[in-house]
Amino acid sequence: MQYDVIVIGSGPGGYVAAIRCAQLGLKTACIEKYPTYGGTCLNVGCIPSKALLDSSEHYYNASHTFKTHGINLDNLSVDFGQMLKRKNEVVQKNTSGISFLFKKNKIDGYQGIGSFKDKNTIVIKKEDGTTQEITGKNIIIATGSKPSGLPFIKLDKKRIITSTEALTLPEIPKHLILIGGGVIGLELGSVYARLGAKVSVIEYMDSIIPTMDKSLGKELQKVLQKQGMEFYLSHKVTGATAKGKEVTVTFDNPKGEKQELKGDYCLVAVGRIAYTDNLGLDKIGLKVEDRGRKIAVDAHLETSVKGVYAIGDVIQGAMLAHKAEDEGTFVAETIVGQKPHIDYNLIPGVVYTWPEVAAVGQTEEQLKEKGVKYKTGSFPFKASGRAVASGDPDGFVKVLADTATDEILGVHIIGPRAADMIAEAVVAMEFRASAEDIARISHAHPTYTEAFREACLAATENRAIHI
Ligand code: FAD
Ligand code: NAD
Repeated sequence: MQYDVIVIGSGPGGYVAAIRCAQLGLKTACIEKYPTYGGTCLNVGCIPSKALLDSSEHYYNASHTFKTHGINLDNLSVDFGQMLKRKNEVVQKNTSGISFLFKKNKIDGYQGIGSFKDKNTIVIKKEDGTTQEITGKNIIIATGSKPSGLPFIKLDKKRIITSTEALTLPEIPKHLILIGGGVIGLELGSVYARLGAKVSVIEYMDSIIPTMDKSLGKELQKVLQKQGMEFYLSHKVTGATAKGKEVTVTFDNPKGEKQELKGDYCLVAVGRIAYTDNLGLDKIGLKVEDRGRKIAVDAHLETSVKGVYAIGDVIQGAMLAHKAEDEGTFVAETIVGQKPHIDYNLIPGVVYTWPEVAAVGQTEEQLKEKGVKYKTGSFPFKASGRAVASGDPDGFVKVLADTATDEILGVHIIGPRAADMIAEAVVAMEFRASAEDIARISHAHPTYTEAFREACLAATENRAIHI
């Protein structure tokens, strides 16, 4: 078979690239080694984790906050099997949705491992051992990433696990020890803390979610501590072993003293690495950067081999589904000669804890480092009528604006529905809005989004109305 474009990998990067190519009239194939489409995101990432976050949040509210709303429930209990079954159904609906979209867009899907024979020929190795060759004028590598471990810890995937196993545990842990206080650790830690597990987080840096604005990690830690999670910051893990049903994690405190925690599960969530195994990159002389892990691309997301592109987690930048999707669209449009654009500074980041954390643009730490003169406007949710009504007073919105021009440079939110609220900030910043622009725009009352307007008012002339 001959194609205009062959996409290797069907995650949010690959499947969006394939659909956009087909929309643009290109004959397109997509190869996926797993039985279902959707990659990490739909199968073992964004979607199943959000399904469990939503279920566990219902339980947490029913057991902790319903009473204050005047709702009494007797004999509340968790049916964890049903929770996992629902999560699996959610995944199935989403992955079969991609099959439907491929059919609708006349994309040929191939199941098997794709690898380069030459720069236009891909060999597909199927599960039954047979192979098939297809050719394409353009190839898009969208093979994603896999969990990275620590060299001194053996992942047995039963007691010492990655996020993939944490989404299908046979039981609710009694004591879950998390190595890494980043996004995965805090989201999956929240699931099990809400369901009653003791959750301990060991983080190497001096704050959780350390790559985000420092104020967010500080506030999130306070709230998660109230929910029962415990934190060991600036602690260095030295080992983890499993024996029977028990795991032991050893670590050094900031003074270098040896410490130890015992639990029944240990989740290692210290980042992910690009996945390029079995791709046969050497056959086309493709360069890789970042200690051989990530595929190098130019400003058009083209690799050093003409006509071979790479997108998503397998290249540099944030490992986020929406970044991969945008790059999928970008490459498809580039192939047909359009001039697409991605502003990487304006890709939002979200942590789906409760309260949620969301941010876009520059952090205060980055602005300080660059010597940019900026002003800050903050508004706490405890002063928002909507947040008080819903019982979600934790958190704030912080707006950073250029001192001279008032242009919004960064927005950092921790609070109810921050994940949805951040979209307004992204739109504002794409249009290079000033804080005063937002302060002058009507926001429906009572909504959480009023807090963004108030923070912009605070940044404009320190004239927030409700604080
Ligand atoms: P992937 O989704 O990893 O897809 C790559 C696909 O390529 C896989 O299906 C793989 O099987 C296939 N493949 C690899 N090699 C070959 C080959 N040789 N032949 C054929 N097929 C191959 N991001 C967010 O933005 N929001 C979230 O809420 C979020 N939650 C997450 C939760 C968890 C627990 C995890 C682990 C990740 C989460 N992410 C989230 C990150 C997100 O999943 C990734 O950034 C995203 O999936 C990357 O998309 P991708 O298309 O680059 O790669
Ligand atoms: P991460 O980079 O978010 O967090 C890893 C954490 O582990 C960091 O805080 C780091 O300082 C810490 N760490 C590293 N080595 C350590 C050690 N030896 N001991 C203790 N702590 C250590 O990575 P992650 O949480 O594994 O997530 C992986 C990727 O998946 C991220 O890039 C993220 O963007 C993506 N993801 C996104 C979402 C989302 O968008 N909501 C959700 C889950 C995952």
